[in-house]
Formats: sequence, structure tokens, C-alpha cells
Amino acid sequence: MKVIHLGNDILRQKAVPVEEINDEIKALVREMFVTMEAEEGVGLAAPQIGRSIRLFVVKADDGVERTFINPQIVETSQELATYEEGCLSVPKMYEDVVRPARITIQARNENGRRFNLEADGFLARVIQHEYDHLEGILFIDRIDPALKTKIEQKFLKKTEKKED
Ligand code: ZN
Repeated sequence: MKVIHLGNDILRQKAVPVEEINDEIKALVREMFVTMEAEEGVGLAAPQIGRSIRLFVVKADDGVERTFINPQIVETSQELATYEEGCLSVPKMYEDVVRPARITIQARNENGRRFNLEADGFLARVIQHEYDHLEGILFIDRIDPALKTKIEQKFLKKTEKKED
């Protein structure tokens, strides 16, 4: 699977719910974990591989593979935390992003089972970043606007070059 980059409109669309967790979705989840590991990422959302559906996978610092289908963040802490973030769709760019320190999320896993997860630290960070992808939001939307513009222009130029 190929990870799409900043400049591709799919990354900016609001993803639609997964209608049925069938064999195709299960296979997609497996492929997404493989792609994520190959790219040395800690999370991957379906829009990043060109599928605008509400699904993402995460393997954070605890090494546990977690699948989130039709997730909803139901609680966020008042307390904030700052982490340096990067994104497979915005390669080689790393910036500090401020987000809630803790979250509670509800979702279904690849077997269709509903679960509830309270997360903090790095896991909470990765989940929020991936959840943003389902809303068409990228981490650069949450940094200094001037810096965001700079990054966008850099990627736009790259895309133009490819088309020449
Ligand atoms: Zn990302």
C-alpha cells in the first residue's frame, strides 16, 4: 500500500463510517498494519492509503496493535500536553503540537467488538492524531499558521515537480 502525501485531496475529506466489518475490512486492517510497520509509523488512518472511511490502526510505545473502527472521542482532559508530532503523509516534518493529555475513546475493533479505552501519554497523542485524519485534519493545522504555510508550499512544489 502506498501512503498518500499532503497535497492529495483525500487527506482533507471527512471520512464516512464503515458500514460493515467484513472480510474486506479485516484484510484492509492487516494491510494497514504491514504498511505502517514498513514505513516505521506508530499509527495509520485509512484516508492516508486513499480510503476515506472511519478506520485507523495504532501501535504505540506499548507495542499493542489496536484497531479503531467508527471511533468517537467521548472525553478529553482539561490538562494539555505538548509532543513533537510527525506524519507519514507529511514526511520528514516534525513540530510540537498541543493537545489534551488524556482521552476516552469508544470504537469497534476488527472483530466488530465495541470497546472503550482511556489513554494518556504517547498513546493518547497517537490516537488523537489519527482521529484527526478521519476529520480531514492534519497536525500542521494545529501549529503556527506561518509555519504551516511554509510546509504546505514546500509540498506543493514537490507535487508540481512530479507532474512536470
Ligand atoms: Zn498522520
